[in-house]
Amino acid sequence: MIYPYRKIEMTEMEFSRRTLMGGALGLLANSFIESVAASPRTPSLDLDHERFMRLAIELAKKVPRYPFGAVVVDVNTKTVVGEGWVRVNKNPIWHGEMTAINNCPDSDSGFDWKNVCLYTTGESCPMCQSAIIWTGMPLVVYGSSMPFLQSCDFGEINIRAKTVIEASLKGKCEIIGGVLEKECNELFRNAKKSS
Ligand SMILES: [Zn+2]
Repeated sequence: MIYPYRKIEMTEMEFSRRTLMGGALGLLANSFIESVAASPRTPSLDLDHERFMRLAIELAKKVPRYPFGAVVVDVNTKTVVGEGWVRVNKNPIWHGEMTAINNCPDSDSGFDWKNVCLYTTGESCPMCQSAIIWTGMPLVVYGSSMPFLQSCDFGEINIRAKTVIEASLKGKCEIIGGVLEKECNELFRNAKKSS
């Protein structure tokens, strides 16, 4: 099911898609295009984003004061292969996305990062978005936006995820924001109230 969520502008991505559709893939070569070419389907068009965001929301509820939950999903089998939630009480860099990524199988098992995507209740911070880029996964989906998180007193580094992606020389990933935004915002609003 496809939802009309706000899609963060990704000029290069759209250009890539048009190029792919036009059969001119060979004229362009960057890792993002290669990752799309490895799978005939475009992940954002073939996944039930609400279904997986609901799973991320359930994980976020484990930490009501820091409700950042994340799931990593195999885009082919449509199953969760890694899940995580904030554990900064154990380690300051264990954000929801970082724990979800760390809970995925390792590459020795044949795990292919180009066939997964990540759902997170809140827009990723620069550290997590950079980690997502390093994995090479082609898509990240978030619920609440960084400006909203900041309005709830979350967020330390004021760089949007889109900006991190645009700055990447390694490769790009597609980003979709606002999936189940109302439900995610409610989590963070309640967290602020309870703090
Ligand atoms: Zn983070």
